[in-house]
Amino acid sequence: MSDLFPAESPSQQPRMLRVKDGLKDGLGRGITYLRVSVTEQCNLACVYCKPRTGNLQRMEAPAMSRNEVVALVKVFTSLGIRKVRLTGGEPLLRRDLETIIAGISPEVEGRVHLTTNGIHLARRARALRDAGLAGVNVSLDAADRKAFERLTLKNGLDKVLAGLEAARGAGLKAKLNTVVLRGWNGDQILPLARLAQREGLQVRFIEFMPYLGNGWDKEQFMPAAEILQTIQEGLGLELEEEPPVGLEEGPARLFRIPGSQGKVGVISTLSADFCDRCNRVRLTSRGEMQACLFGSRPMDLLEPLRNHASHEDLVNLIRQTLIEKLDCHPMRRGDQPKLADGMWQVGG
Ligand code: SAM
Repeated sequence: MSDLFPAESPSQQPRMLRVKDGLKDGLGRGITYLRVSVTEQCNLACVYCKPRTGNLQRMEAPAMSRNEVVALVKVFTSLGIRKVRLTGGEPLLRRDLETIIAGISPEVEGRVHLTTNGIHLARRARALRDAGLAGVNVSLDAADRKAFERLTLKNGLDKVLAGLEAARGAGLKAKLNTVVLRGWNGDQILPLARLAQREGLQVRFIEFMPYLGNGWDKEQFMPAAEILQTIQEGLGLELEEEPPVGLEEGPARLFRIPGSQGKVGVISTLSADFCDRCNRVRLTSRGEMQACLFGSRPMDLLEPLRNHASHEDLVNLIRQTLIEKLDCHPMRRGDQPKLADGMWQVGG
């Protein structure tokens, strides 16, 4: 397998890959950020995420035990991963999430974050913080109860808002994420921006991405520029753009709302992607590494781990997968992407 990896020179080829080499993909991009899906299961059925057929049966129970999650994350952190985000599915459906966080947090000096729909956040926020969680991104696509229910098929807005408050009360860094679909929640952009303004929150609006069976079409797609224009016109304010931050802080372009601590951001995954600076890889709840959201072949790390693969073998599998990391979205080249089943499977 080692001949797959270009060595600086044949004589320098290391037997044990050294931490100082860090993780680089085939194009030389440094990889420092790992997103781990801890389960495919979810307690919401968001229209943009689940298969539109409503078939949730394929959402399998997580394959990785908590020890296996921690063991695989440790292989990544030994290679220079500095930040880990736990996601899913809905990560708060795992009762052992705090134990997983406690196992990972020391490996990344506390830089463990969570993406959640917030339904179960209120009662767990303090325990999550005590386990070593640094921050939480709460997905919220509507500020109105009816719109929330139409998008998620659950009446859960109050629980999410309570979860957000509990997270902030526990001292967790909290942000909101909103996926925008014209015709579904375009009318919620302004109410959510007003929530950011009123509460001094950061709300990031995400462009709707295509997955197998999620019903993506051009009519529903709203580009980041239009989202920003809607906010500026609606608030009647000139938003002030912040200087760009590193991708570990997230790919959003951020804007201050004058006269408030609040900020809005846009994540232009399709209209202006950030693939050239991409620093992230993913691990699915089945224990497969995925180098890109779109179009890359998953690499099974769980089976080798269970078969007592050495650290070096696992490192080699990781490096091999990274060589195939794409330079940009297939859509940007006009190609049909090989769509994954959904964010719930890849890990959003
Ligand atoms: N259940 C958790 C939650 O709701 O945040 C974590 C999993 S969810 C799949 C993670 C993120 O993926 C959410 O912010 C969600 O809004 C985003 N997402 C899912 N499908 C998407 C799509 N088609 N386009 C853009 N973002 C999407």
